[in-house]
Amino acid sequence: LKFQLINMVNEDVVAKGNVERIGIEGSFMKYQPGDGDKITVEKDLKNHKEAMKIVIDALLDPKTGVIKNVDEITAVGHRVVHGGEFFSGSVVIDDAVIKALEDCIELAPIHNPPNLMGIQACKEIMPNTPMVGVFDTAFHHSIPKHAYMYGLPYEVYEKYKVRKFGFHGTSHKYVYYRLAEIMGKDPNNFKVITCHLGNGSSITAIKNGESIDTSLGYTPLAGLPMGTRCGDIDPAIVPFLMEKEGLSTKEINDLMNKKSGVLGLSGVSNDFRDLEEAAEKGNERAQLALDVFIYSVKKFISTYVGILNGVDAVVFTAGIGENDGYVREKAVEGLDYLGIAIDKDKNNVRGKEVDISKDGAKVKTFIVPTNEELMIARETQKLVK
Ligand code: ADP
Repeated sequence: LKFQLINMVNEDVVAKGNVERIGIEGSFMKYQPGDGDKITVEKDLKNHKEAMKIVIDALLDPKTGVIKNVDEITAVGHRVVHGGEFFSGSVVIDDAVIKALEDCIELAPIHNPPNLMGIQACKEIMPNTPMVGVFDTAFHHSIPKHAYMYGLPYEVYEKYKVRKFGFHGTSHKYVYYRLAEIMGKDPNNFKVITCHLGNGSSITAIKNGESIDTSLGYTPLAGLPMGTRCGDIDPAIVPFLMEKEGLSTKEINDLMNKKSGVLGLSGVSNDFRDLEEAAEKGNERAQLALDVFIYSVKKFISTYVGILNGVDAVVFTAGIGENDGYVREKAVEGLDYLGIAIDKDKNNVRGKEVDISKDGAKVKTFIVPTNEELMIARETQKLVK
């Protein structure tokens, strides 16, 4: 459970933190009031309601808190991973919305149930405070049908809505508009490839403020190989492995979601810091995992330059995109034909809004740290007003 309390008058972060290991042994909360010191509170937390409660208690604490009364929180914005075809924009959460979200559980079994628990917890703790759902899929509603349909029998789409949805929409949208601001461009006349590279990774082609294609799909398993997720594979591998290894649906899902990606390839870690350290010491599988990931990033960037018919900029964001100069450098290496080239010295930077393009490069390359919380807060304010 990640949280921020934002004062929307000036968009200042009043307090922020996160709760980890909810429902398993050793749960704890990290909390930071404004610019104050970080505090860690260890407490067994059985579920998201208890987690939400400890967050509110921290915000109200006479010593380290930042509010005196829970009513000072005007609204709560929730990041919701899967909105299916129901939601093309943010919504004020009511009982009908909760029902629709329950219907989307099948589409995002890892993400949507805890989302719903978070919503339920806030409803119980702050029954009169309006809540807004901001969907990770919403920004991708503009993807045209020829790009979101799979080459499967049409009935599969009609019956089950099997189609590309795309995710990380809030992040792609944030960095796109922020970059337009930084570059002084009109967002309605601007073409960008946004690379959100973190534990989950996706790349999006954005034209005039609209997502026109993205690498994640029906679920957050498609596209790039990720920390532990496999990304695009030949679909025939699924029945092959199930048969050969006698795997159940759950087991094959676990294999593809939790044991694959750079973790599965390397056998070392899903964290790029560990991979780079191991590769430097000569671990070949760690280097292979990095190479596979980087190659995939390069392929998506190249493809999207094509479908956008040229771009103004490429932007890197999220844990890897913001911090990992090695991945950024290698991912655009050899793309000078497309006008994309970065400056090694400028690229030697972490977590800043910065232009890392080589002098004279036709396409600009930037790092823009993502800010999904601010995006969610802005959407929430807009709807609650
Ligand atoms: P999530 O998808 O969980 O929000 P993040 O966007 O926070 O993930 O990305 C987390 C990942 O970012 C880590 O697993 C690690 O691979 C990568 N990362 C974070 N910091 C660095 C760094 N300094 N150098 C390289 N990779 C980093």
